[in-house]
Amino acid sequence: MAIGERILALRRELEPRGCRLIAVSKTQPVERIMEAYAAGQRGFGENKVQELVKKHEAMPKDIEWHMIGHLQTNKVKLLAPVVALVHSVDSVGLLAEISKHGEKVGRVVPCLLQVHIAAEKEKFGFEEPEVIDLLTSGTMTRFPFLRIEGLMGMATRTQEPGQLQQEFRRLRGLREALRATKLPDHVSMKELSMGMSDDYAIALEEGSTMVRIGTGIFGTRPPRDDLSNI
Ligand SMILES: *Cc1c(COP(=O)(O)O)cnc(C)c1O
Repeated sequence: MAIGERILALRRELEPRGCRLIAVSKTQPVERIMEAYAAGQRGFGENKVQELVKKHEAMPKDIEWHMIGHLQTNKVKLLAPVVALVHSVDSVGLLAEISKHGEKVGRVVPCLLQVHIAAEKEKFGFEEPEVIDLLTSGTMTRFPFLRIEGLMGMATRTQEPGQLQQEFRRLRGLREALRATKLPDHVSMKELSMGMSDDYAIALEEGSTMVRIGTGIFGTRPPRDDLSNI
């Protein structure tokens, strides 16, 4: 199947259930991303700031660029003017930096809080009690130039459907619990970014509102050597 056909097939599956497709275009060259664009895809996900910024400059301006990878505070400055949604906010320091640069460029930057749901230790994200503390402690008033729209999670790399279901269900449960509290200004719990190529069907069952799919659209990713092939 060609890129455009995969996009259309995925959207037919996702959209009736209120789920958006974020096409993960990291390491993919502009001409392959343009195939997805030609099929009507507008939301793309990148995990390196320089690459996202470069593609934003090179490509049509109605594309929404989503930052899905671990973000270092010193890269926020480049990202703040152009990003549609930062999925991977995983520390209070990052919240501070995003709000600071949002203020400088005069925009309220949309964000998700990344929550650690996988059994693996190395994956990034807040622990559940940290999220609850952050949203109930008054801390968010320090960050007026960002808006939190929901949660993001990455499941364990496993083929075990029961475990994946449990992890996604946990993230959804956290969102439901937060929704039942009085959330601070600039915080909603509308979005649940969960599900990748291998586990999106389970994430969808568990109420995902955004899936992040790369290889399932573009095939195997080219290696990331430098930005010259982009
Ligand atoms: C690369 C990546 C994806 C997409 O992975 P695929 O297996 O290619 O679908 C999704 N989310 C994040 C955070 C990623 O880094």
